[in-house]
Amino acid sequence: MVAHNLGYPRIGSYRELKKASESYWAGKISHDDLLEAGQRIRRDNWLTQQQAGIELIPCNDFSFYDQMLDWSLTVDAIPERFRPLAETLPATELDLYFAMARGYQKDGLDLIAMEMTKWFDTNYHYIVPEFRKNQSFSLRSEKLFAEFDEAKAVLGAIPKPVLPGPVTYLLLGKEKEAGFHRLELLDRLLPVYEQILSRLQKQGAEWIQLDEPGLVLNADEREQVAYATAYRFLRERFPKLKFLVASYFECFGENLPLAVQLPVDALHIDLVRCPNQLDDLLKTDFVHRKTVLSLGVVDGRNVWINDLNRSLGLIQKATAALGENRVWVAPSCSLLHTPCDLDAETTTSGLTPGIKQWLAFAKQKLAEVIKLVTIAAQPTSDQAQSWLCENETRLTARRQSALINRPEVQNRVRQLTDRDTYRNSAFAQRQALQHQRLTLPLFPTTTIGSFPQTEDVRINRAKFRKGEKTLAQYEAFIQKETEKAIRWQEGIGLDVLVHGEFERNDMVEYFGELLGGFAFSQNGWVQSYGSRCVKPPIIYGDIYRPKAMTVRWAEYAQSLTQKPVKGMLTGPVTILQWSFVRDDQSRRDTCLQIALAIRDEVVDLEKAGIGIIQIDEPALREGLPLRRENRPAYLDWAVKAFRVSASGVRDETQIHTHMCYSEFNDIIQPIADLDADVITIETSRSQMELLDAFGQFNYPNEIGPGVYDIHSPRVPTSAEMVALLNKAADVLPVRNLWVNPDCGLKTRHWLETEQALKNMVQAAQTARHQV
Ligand code: GLN
Ligand code: ZN
Repeated sequence: MVAHNLGYPRIGSYRELKKASESYWAGKISHDDLLEAGQRIRRDNWLTQQQAGIELIPCNDFSFYDQMLDWSLTVDAIPERFRPLAETLPATELDLYFAMARGYQKDGLDLIAMEMTKWFDTNYHYIVPEFRKNQSFSLRSEKLFAEFDEAKAVLGAIPKPVLPGPVTYLLLGKEKEAGFHRLELLDRLLPVYEQILSRLQKQGAEWIQLDEPGLVLNADEREQVAYATAYRFLRERFPKLKFLVASYFECFGENLPLAVQLPVDALHIDLVRCPNQLDDLLKTDFVHRKTVLSLGVVDGRNVWINDLNRSLGLIQKATAALGENRVWVAPSCSLLHTPCDLDAETTTSGLTPGIKQWLAFAKQKLAEVIKLVTIAAQPTSDQAQSWLCENETRLTARRQSALINRPEVQNRVRQLTDRDTYRNSAFAQRQALQHQRLTLPLFPTTTIGSFPQTEDVRINRAKFRKGEKTLAQYEAFIQKETEKAIRWQEGIGLDVLVHGEFERNDMVEYFGELLGGFAFSQNGWVQSYGSRCVKPPIIYGDIYRPKAMTVRWAEYAQSLTQKPVKGMLTGPVTILQWSFVRDDQSRRDTCLQIALAIRDEVVDLEKAGIGIIQIDEPALREGLPLRRENRPAYLDWAVKAFRVSASGVRDETQIHTHMCYSEFNDIIQPIADLDADVITIETSRSQMELLDAFGQFNYPNEIGPGVYDIHSPRVPTSAEMVALLNKAADVLPVRNLWVNPDCGLKTRHWLETEQALKNMVQAAQTARHQV
């Protein structure tokens, strides 16, 4: 039984890659220094895996930015606009690569970066391949071959190159002009795979891992034919190479028969996300084939220790049906999505020893894979028994821990009734009461919450965290910033003010730190995109709110002004989505626990006299399951969680929500079901096109379509914003429209923010005169 791995985190245990790349971009280290940093990380990763006992070790899973971008360069799918850089400037291949990822503004060139989007339902972002109708492909980059030789030398063994599968690669790209479907490019792409594979074969490669996670998405006939065609082609050309096709993140669904029949040597399935896949597969003709089944039993998407007994059950079931030689064991997906090494968490960090023993990061997960293979081979050995026993002890300790279990929280979730998900009256009645109370003009102006997090704000927070500033000093500083922000907003004439969020580092971390049931690691970084890493909080126990979290800041800000100040909270779905969640309880239940904590905060804000409360849910769309059939159930509890959080207040208290980063077209009904009094959304990049969908839907409640893009320092003119407001007024009733930017302003500078918001206020005034 082979123990193998699909991919290892490439950022380094202490974010070495981030530091090296950013230094290179800033011109502080040389090209060679950066290459060397990459080499060191790869070497460490390979040796770590080898020392753990992994037999078949991946190569080409390393990337300086993103594996899909690597592949676009490998097959020479370089968008036209980068050709001048590729051909005329003395830029290295790596500079061209970074230009594609990050854009390029130098030497008289102004090249827009390639688009970036989420990798399936993870928080990893890949660079979207761009295709043209006359797209051609050829072998361009040597990276793959170089890394193969490098790994072979380091390991003294033959590594397993990891390549994006041809169909998933095309599928995840985008047509940049009309008149063709990207899968039509398959015939042109496959010859390049042929070239690549014959080079690898000459270098001595045996096993090739082709990642085809696209296989878990609902596929139409065109897609299914593409998979069958691609693998028939590769099989015919390479009868001797061994192909492992890797799927992950979901079940195959209707693609199961297709997956079973692929003419490949091994198939990897994710038994963490889809435990039933094994039974389903064993009922098919797969049993009678020779294909190896790679069992993804160790969770590559979360941080909990494996339930060895449970995994062993799956392994034994597979070996009973297929024989030991046809079963491999692996993590469920690439370990890219887990932090690197739990050993980097020292006792002084946020993870208490009690919680730490329930966790496994990438390195620890390798050890689990090895344990499983060893135990499966000799289940009655002393070693096996002691591992199983130790694992059981930890799991039991976790299950019974007082740290986790709060019966009062569990009861409250169980006792939730329909009544808890409804406001007292329907929207129309609430709207009348709110208008009476708030007396806002038509086209009321507001912002999304945060104001620029200046150097000064960040330095003060860092000093406070290091103990160089007392709590009193830090809070005095935040008060001063808040007061400045209030005066400033009054000055430019906004209607509904915000306190500015200066006390918050991050919209999820801030709440996680104040809620019970959350833990924070010291080095638990996961790559989000390029050099950007995130450190998701770990939800380990029942969630409760020891005390009010935001009330005093909201109250303070409101005390400074006659104008309404919005209370500002992060919603339950977003908090859930951006954390590592418990695996011993459904996402739904965890989300409802968070929702109850937020509900209490909302009620407390109301009691403190706050008349408008915003509950941000930018991640609602992102939580949508990969397979269509699972979406209704998710939307049902996600919408319910929001409603639970928002429904504890009186009619005249106005509940806002905010969403961004997403295409909302296919979830307008669920958004309407949130029944927020006001929603502010990101629309300006689509020039309000998005709003048409809301218009066609007759979206009933109030809505603030973002009138300018906050992701760019560019200051929009008031005329531009008036035009957008006119567009909005064409599709939605004027009395329901708000005027606001696309999202929070924390990444902007004050200078451009001031100009932009002044123009925005003016645009609202113009719009008012026009009605
Ligand atoms: N209130 C948050 C802010 O303004 C919202 C951030 C977000 O939507 N991502 O920063
Ligand atoms: Zn936003």
